[in-house]
Amino acid sequence: MEQNILDCVIVGSGPSGFTAAIYAARADLKPELYTGLEPGGQLTTTTEVDNFPGYPAGITGPEMMMDLQKQAERFDTKVHYEMITKVEFSKEVGGTHKLYAGNKEIFAKTVIISTGATAKYLGLDDEKKYNGGGVSACATCDGFFYRGKDVVVVGAGDTAAEEATYLAKLVNKVTMLVRKDEFRASKAMVHRVQNTPNIEVKFHHELIGIEGENNLVERAVVINNQTQEKSTVDVHGIFIAIGHKPNTDIFKGQIDLDENGYIETEKGSSRTNLPGVFAAGDVQDHIYRQAITAAGSGCMAAMDAEKYLAELH
Ligand SMILES: Cc1cc2nc3c(=O)[nH]c(=O)nc-3n(C[C@H](O)[C@H](O)[C@H](O)COP(=O)(O)OP(=O)(O)OC[C@H]3O[C@@H](n4cnc5c(N)ncnc54)[C@H](O)[C@@H]3O)c2cc1C
Repeated sequence: MEQNILDCVIVGSGPSGFTAAIYAARADLKPELYTGLEPGGQLTTTTEVDNFPGYPAGITGPEMMMDLQKQAERFDTKVHYEMITKVEFSKEVGGTHKLYAGNKEIFAKTVIISTGATAKYLGLDDEKKYNGGGVSACATCDGFFYRGKDVVVVGAGDTAAEEATYLAKLVNKVTMLVRKDEFRASKAMVHRVQNTPNIEVKFHHELIGIEGENNLVERAVVINNQTQEKSTVDVHGIFIAIGHKPNTDIFKGQIDLDENGYIETEKGSSRTNLPGVFAAGDVQDHIYRQAITAAGSGCMAAMDAEKYLAELH
């Protein structure tokens, strides 16, 4: 049977995936997009998105992602509510890439990987209970809601130090909970934390619970892991800043990843080490991690894919 080789397959349905689809479809690549287990991506887990340009009154995450999907479908993107489970990438210029959705085989000249990343949490039941009610993994996204209030930041690495110093400019006081007796963050970041007067660092302290009324955070319950003494910190927001995991398990061994599992792309482009395979959004970006930057890189990936195909002829 003759193989149906698609021009462009997009893996993932967050802002980068759907933006790539809009651009690829308008370039007549007839893209087919696989949504994975979280159609719409990370933003479907949040309420207000106030920083995506074009929505003066803000919009909920799920509504915004429906809008992006509708726009992609308007130009005949085919959306499959399936997960890509395995890939076999070609290393040849002009080669055919093979993807699997379970037993289904998909063949493509170009693949845009936009599988995102997942914020790590501590695993406390209370994190789920208060998610959307004061627990967050993104200071840039949610810090604004806590202006003038007190917050906790959990973590000891560069991300935690950056989140804490960012929040310190907006909120009244930041309490940082660090499990060990020292930071893992770079010296420069540690200095920034130490030189910020409204950050208090509690070494040897861990978050063990959250208290509040109507699923809104009012107190962080913490333990000193040296003395086992428990106490509470009155706060409205708790930022978990212990890192992200890029969704790249199925690509391991197939494509170049950095030491943290993010897909490596050529500087200033979406090109990976493989011809015809491009990456966009949080799966290749551990720095900005915003919907607008993900969307921008989705546009880049579609344009890079279009150019790659044009150069084959
Ligand atoms: C609670 C929360 C609130 C946020 N608030 C804001 C905000 O206010 N403003 C802002 O700019 N940013 C916000 N962000 C960050 C923003 O959501 C991300 O930067 C953005 O969603 C990244 O987009 P992406 O396209 O890279 O991937 P994601 O949104 O992470 O989507 C990844 C997609 O890949 C799919 N996928 C994964 N594996 C597979 C597979 N094997 N096969 C097929 N599909 C797969 C998933 O199902 C999903 O659809 C928030 C994040 C969170 C978690």
